Amino acid sequence: MSPEEFYLAASRLCAACGMCCDGTMFQIVRMQPGEVPAELGRLGLKIRCRDGEYFMEQPCSALREKRCTVYEQRPVRCRLFNCQQLGRVESGETSESEAMTLIVETRALVDRVRGLIEQCGLREDGQALVERYERVASTPVNQALEPELLAVREELEATMRKLKLKLNREFRLPPNSR
Ligand code: SF4
Ligand code: SF4
Repeated sequence: MSPEEFYLAASRLCAACGMCCDGTMFQIVRMQPGEVPAELGRLGLKIRCRDGEYFMEQPCSALREKRCTVYEQRPVRCRLFNCQQLGRVESGETSESEAMTLIVETRALVDRVRGLIEQCGLREDGQALVERYERVASTPVNQALEPELLAVREELEATMRKLKLKLNREFRLPPNSR
């Protein structure tokens, strides 16, 4: 696959996915040496500082309909990040349509997890998916008083396990890649 063909395939796949920007895969993106946090903050990105280290919170405020609205000025880590699927498409190990099928399947799991979190009483609040999931999972359920909720929680836990497995096997790169 030529660089141009890969660029076009990656654009189509990312436009259908968005999971490395929308809080599904990551909670933060670390700033790199040479980046000016204030400049990125002026773009509307959620720049924070902890123990002297700057990072950007996700879900990213620059993501609109699965597209980056600050593409030319996006942080260094965003420029460098290609998930496993893109890497496999670039090397020819996977076809674009296989990667697209995987993205569609994985996004369906994300939507199911989101729906189940809402059924558990936690409305969309702009936090990363894993944070929202952990808040729900750490809230005790009274089995006698809320038997239906228990079934929803069990489905949520099982779906989240499937999702994490798929993200780790098919999309994430080694730690600190984002
Ligand atoms: S996870 Fe991969 S396919 Fe999805 S938006 Fe990120 S880089 Fe693109
Ligand atoms: S700045 Fe753009 S590429 Fe980076 S996380 Fe936000 S939407 Fe994604």
